[in-house]
Amino acid sequence: MATLVSFHAHPDDECIATGGTLAAAASAGHRVVLVLATRGEEGEIADGVMELDESLSDRRVAETARAAARLGIARTEYLGYRDSGMVGTPQNEAQECFWQADIEEAANRLAEILAEEHADVLTVYDENGGYGHPDHIQVHRVGVRAAEIAKTPRVYEATMNRDAIKRFAITHQAEARDRGIETPFENPEEITMGTPEADITTTVDVREFIDIKRAALAEHASQVDGNSFFLAIPVEIFRDLFGQEWFIRRGSSPFGQDGQPARETSLFGP
Ligand SMILES: [Zn+2]
Repeated sequence: MATLVSFHAHPDDECIATGGTLAAAASAGHRVVLVLATRGEEGEIADGVMELDESLSDRRVAETARAAARLGIARTEYLGYRDSGMVGTPQNEAQECFWQADIEEAANRLAEILAEEHADVLTVYDENGGYGHPDHIQVHRVGVRAAEIAKTPRVYEATMNRDAIKRFAITHQAEARDRGIETPFENPEEITMGTPEADITTTVDVREFIDIKRAALAEHASQVDGNSFFLAIPVEIFRDLFGQEWFIRRGSSPFGQDGQPARETSLFGP
């Protein structure tokens, strides 16, 4: 059995990008460790979910513990940086935010956990952090450096399949509009998030774990309430869109020796 460390920027990120992969790994008997750079202090709060005396960071830590329990995560750690907020906001400049962190120092914090856990596999984000959030870009930079320091053998950049999202948007846009559900993708041609399908090395089929993934995501109620796109869409559509998780394995190619696409289906090798 192997140890997988999954590195993320904010509570709830672990569910959308990697929740099925983490649940599948834990269910197969691997040790799964979650590391979060921040407590998500700048997240937008869904209406009516917070108690008056509650801080958002405490709330998100509690939500993460419940989501982690659903996914089978054995250990959760926080690197202790502050959420940098969306790109271009003044929070990007705060001294203690993750975006301003010294890469080497942050990487050393993560590398310590990787070494302690004898991690076989690390997941980070693609170099644009999926969609350009400063903390997500920083997860890529810090994670890649930490794996170098700790000599972690397999490093995967979690990403989204841009072509699959475009296909989804074309197929389901009208239906979503009819149901009054706002989707994050209006014009399929303008979608720039994620990675073109041709550059993806690894696709993990997580449909078997889709209910766990959705239930874990729903634990993050301060961020994702029943009206949010993720939980408002019918379960069949959720399965279509989130039933596969995509990764770019560093140092690997999406093509086999014969030049044909040859995608891996697991982070743990054949
Ligand atoms: Zn995030």
